[in-house]
Amino acid sequence: MKLGTKLYLFFAGVVILPLVAVTVLSSVALSRSGQDTYRARMQSSLAAASAIIFEQDRGLAGDLQAAMQRADTGALVSGNGAARQPVLDKIRSETGADAVVLAGAAGQTLAQSGSAGVQAPLLKSGVDLTSGAGAQGQVYALKQIDTSTLGQVFSPQDLDWMILSGNTRLAGSLPGGGLQPAAGTKPPPAVSTGRAPAQPSPEFQAVAGGHDLVVTELSLPAGLTSVPLTLAAAVPASTVRAASSQALEAGLGLTALLLVLAALLGFLLARTITGPLRKLNEAAAASSAGDLGRHVEIRSRDEIGGLAASFNLMQSNIRNYVNELEESRSQLMLALTYAGDILGATSDRSRLIKTVAEAARLATGAAGVWVQLFAEIGPPGHGSIFVGAPADFFSEGARNDVRRMADRIGSGIMQAGEIHRLDNEMLAIGYPLMHDRQSLGALVAVFSESAASEGESRRRILNSLATQAASAVENVNFSELQQMLAVTDPMTGLANFRSFQHSLSQEVSKSRRYGHVLSLAIIDLDDFKLVNDRYGHQCGDELLKAVGAALSKRVRGTDVVARYGGEEFAVIFPETSKKAAMRVSESLRRAIAGLRLAGAGELRVTASIGVATFPEDAADDNRLVGRADASLYRAKEEGKDRVMAWESTDEDSGR
Ligand code: GH3
Ligand code: MG
Ligand code: MG
Repeated sequence: MKLGTKLYLFFAGVVILPLVAVTVLSSVALSRSGQDTYRARMQSSLAAASAIIFEQDRGLAGDLQAAMQRADTGALVSGNGAARQPVLDKIRSETGADAVVLAGAAGQTLAQSGSAGVQAPLLKSGVDLTSGAGAQGQVYALKQIDTSTLGQVFSPQDLDWMILSGNTRLAGSLPGGGLQPAAGTKPPPAVSTGRAPAQPSPEFQAVAGGHDLVVTELSLPAGLTSVPLTLAAAVPASTVRAASSQALEAGLGLTALLLVLAALLGFLLARTITGPLRKLNEAAAASSAGDLGRHVEIRSRDEIGGLAASFNLMQSNIRNYVNELEESRSQLMLALTYAGDILGATSDRSRLIKTVAEAARLATGAAGVWVQLFAEIGPPGHGSIFVGAPADFFSEGARNDVRRMADRIGSGIMQAGEIHRLDNEMLAIGYPLMHDRQSLGALVAVFSESAASEGESRRRILNSLATQAASAVENVNFSELQQMLAVTDPMTGLANFRSFQHSLSQEVSKSRRYGHVLSLAIIDLDDFKLVNDRYGHQCGDELLKAVGAALSKRVRGTDVVARYGGEEFAVIFPETSKKAAMRVSESLRRAIAGLRLAGAGELRVTASIGVATFPEDAADDNRLVGRADASLYRAKEEGKDRVMAWESTDEDSGR
């Protein structure tokens, strides 16, 4: 069952049902009150009417008293009929009574003035006659009740009235015929005291003049009137019924209206509660489906409003969290791309470390990153780089601080991942670039204090970048070594034969182009076999290295010294004449002859040197080598330990 339905049923139970009960009960009460209204009207009208009759009676009594004062009561007592008549007439005219009667002590009529109709409601007021002999009888006046004022009492209340003697109508607003009470319904009437009767007089059903009536009666006290009279107020039974049913209808109408209102209220109540909940529910469903952009618009200050506010806050927190995650993921992607570049950049060491530094900075959000290589190959500073943003963010002092830290990390004095506080209060974390247990350099990332709290993932990234960088650096080192080995003689560090050939052909072409001369010397150590035999191969090797170093030391930077063969060397002298080359070669010969090796006191070696010059001795590099070789051969033949240059007379060929 839906929450709205539950709430609605609950509301119906708590509010609508009691409401219905109350309105039904009050409708019944209202229908009674229709009758009650008429009862009250009838009672108050009867009281008012009886008060009017009492008043009329008091007036008659007062008038009679006054008239009797003036009257000749002696004549009345005397018993003379002729004397009595004018006295009674006079009293009648003074009181305005319909009849004035002189009654004897026994009540018998002695004399009378005027007459009163038996069928009229008559007030009766009497004065006792006394003389010295005692009670002499009574003079009483009869006067018809003035009913004209009674109509004014009843008709404004929509009531009919009657003055009854028993059930016989004497006067009234209803037509004649008397009153026939419905059998067994008529209660004894209350007696008027001139005011409203203390007890309400119950009403009863009766018929008068062919009308069904509801009637209430009030008896006038005995002695007030000539015969016992009853005042009756009546209202048509249909009128009372109509009033009741009208009240009932009004009550039922009100009930229906209240029911509709209550139902509407219940509906609205249920909706004000379930509406926001439904919104929340929808938003929660949407957010569980991945839509985090939902904002629930509920401004109420109740618990649901609070729930909505919490929900919105939760949404925005999750959104921020997701954004942060996505940002760091894209940073990682960027770093990965860089890492790919690192591996691709194996030939360029400075690009490599710049890439590593940039990747580390991007991936960790560092303020600056310093990458340094220890074994530098290339120009100074080539093996270290600092990237930071902005470029002048770090003072020279702070940079030196970072450099010192890199040294300590790389040399193992400082632990990898250890946090160091710089002079400028920033935090630095460093990792060595380790490859095969060998430290090739260090990576140091610098963070502002606030950012340093989010540590672990950064450490992992920096550590893995340092490892990757180390193997990439090792790759560069290895490939450079390979290249070097291709052109260098590993024992002496001089150019090897291949490199020599390449250099010679380059230099010959250059000389040809610019019209320069170029000389070539080929050096062969004398009796080197004997050196090996006497002092051993190892010692021979040492001697070969010493010869190479001696040769390199004594030539110009532009000259090329190469190991030509086993114990043979060659020197290219660009822009050098034969004469000058002979001079340098002679100094080389002497230098070789003067070489002494530590721990091999007697060891000496000499060299024979052949020199040839381009273009005078040979037109190309190959022939030039041939001429120098031939000269060398001559030097050997002539007894070794000497320098011989090619002379065109030696052998007339090659031009
Ligand atoms: P010469 O040139 O004066 O005629 O006599 P030689 O003894 O030098 O004769 P040759 O040129 O025939 O022999 C060269 C010797 O040099 C042979 C070899 O044992 C030695 N040799 C060549 N290369 C090396 C090397 O790399 N190390 C050592 N220790 N000896 C070498
Ligand atoms: Mg040789
Ligand atoms: Mg030799």
